Amino acid sequence: MKAESVDGGCILACRECDALHRLKVRLRPGHIVLCSRCHALLHTFMHPNAREHCLALHVAALMLFALANFFPFLTLKISGREATDMFVSATTALFAIGSVDIAILVLLTSVVFPLLTMLGALYLLIPARFGRQAPAAGTVFRLVRRITPWSMLGVFMLGVIIAIVKLLDMAELEFGVALFAFLALLPVYVLAQQGFRAALFWPVQRAIPGHGEPCLPGRARDHGLVHCHTCGWLMPGHEAPVRCPRCADTVHARKPDSIARTWALLITGVMLFIPANVFPIMTVIQLGDGEPNTIFGGVVHLIEAGMWPLGLIVFFASIIVPISKFVVILFLLLSVRRGSGWRAQDRTRLYRVTESIGSWSMVDIFVIGLLASLVHFGNIIQIRPEIAASFFAATVVVTMLAAQSFDPRLIWDRLAESQEQRRPSREQAVG
Ligand SMILES: [Zn+2]
Ligand SMILES: [Zn+2]
Repeated sequence: MKAESVDGGCILACRECDALHRLKVRLRPGHIVLCSRCHALLHTFMHPNAREHCLALHVAALMLFALANFFPFLTLKISGREATDMFVSATTALFAIGSVDIAILVLLTSVVFPLLTMLGALYLLIPARFGRQAPAAGTVFRLVRRITPWSMLGVFMLGVIIAIVKLLDMAELEFGVALFAFLALLPVYVLAQQGFRAALFWPVQRAIPGHGEPCLPGRARDHGLVHCHTCGWLMPGHEAPVRCPRCADTVHARKPDSIARTWALLITGVMLFIPANVFPIMTVIQLGDGEPNTIFGGVVHLIEAGMWPLGLIVFFASIIVPISKFVVILFLLLSVRRGSGWRAQDRTRLYRVTESIGSWSMVDIFVIGLLASLVHFGNIIQIRPEIAASFFAATVVVTMLAAQSFDPRLIWDRLAESQEQRRPSREQAVG
């Protein structure tokens, strides 16, 4: 029997432009559904055994995660001295050298949040496999969705690779089983995350209770509907917040105070980015010789040492990405304020890219954290994070919050308003 989805006829609302859609066909493997207005991803084919697949991937991911955290990942040998480290000891060493903020950030984004997303998903998936719903399923689903953007295993892996290449220059390395487990974990974790969706736990939506049939197409707002960003449920609502009956999230027609919040976070991000670049971010002392380096100084060092691919990655992630984010968010805020109808689809795409690349700036923090915690060889070589590391980490967190607080539906609202305003004046001109 050919796999076919059960979602034909379901109603979907676009989270980026608020357009309503009804899925007219049954999806086949490989099919994806994009919004016809803004091209955001609305839906993908769901295999009849999607629950079992997602459960198996999460179990595998949890086992690999345990292997990666309970076994040594690297042995360093410098001048006859040797040290073996585990991923977890990277964070404890950071606590020990007094970089508490960096230690907490690394611990949360590379250990605690990935673990919580996996455990939360398993809590829902195991009963779902037997046709049951776990107690407080909506709340757990909401929490998993909330922390997913802060679970940065992919970025951490890139940090591990860069740290290893840098260490090759200073020490002899032996790789442990945890490193290979971590390499295997990454694709499994990404697939598990992609498969985790509301449709695994709740049936697809074909009607809006107590509302009748909304005439499509149109914006959810025009039909007096609001759309839960966490689980996708459409329900009657206007400006006042309503509670989602599935995941218990508070649902607003538009993110509350989106523009003001985004402005505040953007300005804070820019203010933090200045000291992050002016002050030194890391000090490397080798045989008593060495000095503090800024972000840019570190990039120049890497390029001078012949490690230009790494230098370019750090330059791109730590300088180009944050600056681009500032410029794009500023542009989006100004264009929404002016009520611009100019290339709404492209501006939405720009927002989508900005939101998705934000966490990759964290790579330099992971590299510094790993180097500082792994290289502790007394007088031979010492690496420690400096004040700019804290500023830079705060910049990344604040700009991620800024992108999350911006509501891309405002781009389309302004477009609709400007079309409304133009219509009567054209009619008058014709009359
Ligand atoms: Zn859309
Ligand atoms: Zn919901």
